[in-house]
Amino acid sequence: MGRYIPDQIIDEIAARADIVDVVQSYIPSLQHAGSRWKACCPFHQEKTPSFIVNPTSNTFHCFGCGKGGNVFTFVMMIENLQFPDAAQMLARKYNVIIPEPEHRHSGKKDKEAAEAAYNLRERVFLLHEKLAAWYRANLVNGSAAKAAEYFKTRRMDPVFAERFMIGAAPDLWDGMIQWAKREGFTIEEMKEARLVSESRQTPGKFFDFFRNRLIFPIWNEQGRVVGFSARQIDPEQGGGKYVNSSESVIFKKSRILYGLNFARQEIAKKGFAVICEGQMDVIAMHSAGCANAVAAQGTAFGNEQAMILHRHTENITLALDSDSAGVNAILKDAAILLPLGFTLKVARFPGGKDPDELLKNAGAEAVRKAVEDAEDFFAFLLARESENQDLAQPAVKTRIAEKLLKFIMLPESEVARDSYIQWLAAKLGLEAKAMLAEVRRISAKEARKNRFQHGAHERRKPEAESTAPPPDTLPESVANPLLAKALAELLEVILSDSDAADFVKAELPPEMLDNGPFAVAVETVIQSRMNDEWEDAPAVIARRLIGCEFDCGPLSAVLAAEPRKHSRSYCAKTAGDCLKRIRILFVEKQLRELKKNFAATPPGAERNELLKKTVELTRALNALNHPRLREKATSGKRYLLPDDTATTDAAATD
Ligand SMILES: [Zn+2]
Repeated sequence: MGRYIPDQIIDEIAARADIVDVVQSYIPSLQHAGSRWKACCPFHQEKTPSFIVNPTSNTFHCFGCGKGGNVFTFVMMIENLQFPDAAQMLARKYNVIIPEPEHRHSGKKDKEAAEAAYNLRERVFLLHEKLAAWYRANLVNGSAAKAAEYFKTRRMDPVFAERFMIGAAPDLWDGMIQWAKREGFTIEEMKEARLVSESRQTPGKFFDFFRNRLIFPIWNEQGRVVGFSARQIDPEQGGGKYVNSSESVIFKKSRILYGLNFARQEIAKKGFAVICEGQMDVIAMHSAGCANAVAAQGTAFGNEQAMILHRHTENITLALDSDSAGVNAILKDAAILLPLGFTLKVARFPGGKDPDELLKNAGAEAVRKAVEDAEDFFAFLLARESENQDLAQPAVKTRIAEKLLKFIMLPESEVARDSYIQWLAAKLGLEAKAMLAEVRRISAKEARKNRFQHGAHERRKPEAESTAPPPDTLPESVANPLLAKALAELLEVILSDSDAADFVKAELPPEMLDNGPFAVAVETVIQSRMNDEWEDAPAVIARRLIGCEFDCGPLSAVLAAEPRKHSRSYCAKTAGDCLKRIRILFVEKQLRELKKNFAATPPGAERNELLKKTVELTRALNALNHPRLREKATSGKRYLLPDDTATTDAAATD
């Protein structure tokens, strides 16, 4: 991937982008904890916060799943973006201007390809943004008369029609294409944005994807238009009631919650989110004063959307239609949400089948009351299952208990499960003991099967597939876990004790440090110490690792941890011990390379030279591994023995 944003711009973004601010915009529950900030991790499911943000070094780390990095890494992970896109996003947020790339300096193909892909993506965003405004203008200025007439019948509050930018696609084959051309967009860009269809009879001839429909722009969490949903205005017209944008470079259905950009603040304020069926319901909810409502976009609610919501709240009220399809949807959503630790309520809409209808029939107050009066999901389920049933019959009780237990067993929390078992036993007049026996009968396996039947998928996988290069091209400090561990331990003590940093500065040959994250970090501490800026080392490390192509998670753990105050003797002992291990591993690596070369070299002077070096290095390694020396080196009295240093120097000068 080409990194073409100039370094000084990256530095400027890093300097302006406050990680607490950025993380908080995604996780409103991020809270002060000493000198750090804490929250439940957005990348894995957890109940107690182990996700730490360190404003001093501008880094984050999750002690639960090990993910970590700097402000760029965070945006890349949470938005599923490549580095340049994440940098661009932050640049926009913090008003840093990224200059147009200078093509004359670029020669590399991949760099150009990355730029082109990046620019195309930005053009697609721009096209969507402008198009939403154009659709809106069509509806407001009457140039889409049929759509405007239909829209009147929906009786939508004009304030919210404006906020949600309801628009109209004209009744023309190429109205959008003509407009976009005038705006300077190419057919290629329109194709990439999935806004045109190609004629089957006449390839190369394009027409508008959305025609003669009411248009709802779809935003991503950051409030950028990424697609459209278009409603039929005439039942006679073909193509279904709603037509949605196809997935594109900027639109992934499974990751969109309609209305979340408008709802996130209110979700934080109210402490819960409302999930509706579709965009009309979301708009009705917002108009009625329930601005914490969202909906899955043109697809069933799924795990990815659940995980996105999990960053905002753990409490959800389901506001789905009260027909039987709606009830099935409630059960499906519960099967996804309960295992993730959500607390669920179900809202009912007496006097309407959904929020939109209730708003029209009974007004805003009735909608707010429906949300306020939402009942606990299990109570809802029990009421539904008991309807018209004779609860005096033992067989009926057993059947109902079975049905509910399948859901009660979904939450991971034993406390939650237990309290619901007690509650259900009391409701059905059964012994809690008997219920527990029933729970045992429904094995964990069955519970899992049930979860799949209800559409829940396996727990969220890491978003971005690792793009790490194959192991043999990795730096040794990344590929070799022993070396990574030694460097990590060394880093911890040289960040804790400046004397240890001085010692390592004098004793660690620079060629033993490669470009892996830990090696870079150790080198940075040494350099900072030389510049008399040792205290600033963590922040400098965080900045140096911006755009690092290797996994910086383990490193961020060291940076994010509360600085431990180690005794000087501990630091001295550990530094000596780590240096020794690093040297042994370095010599071992040289030996491996020598042996490889040796095998590939024909007999002769060159091969003899290799043999001589191998013997020397083996001797050096034996000396380093000598039990007597090892004991002394780790005795804690001294950093390292003089002869130890001499041996390694000999080993390192080849
Ligand atoms: Zn985590």
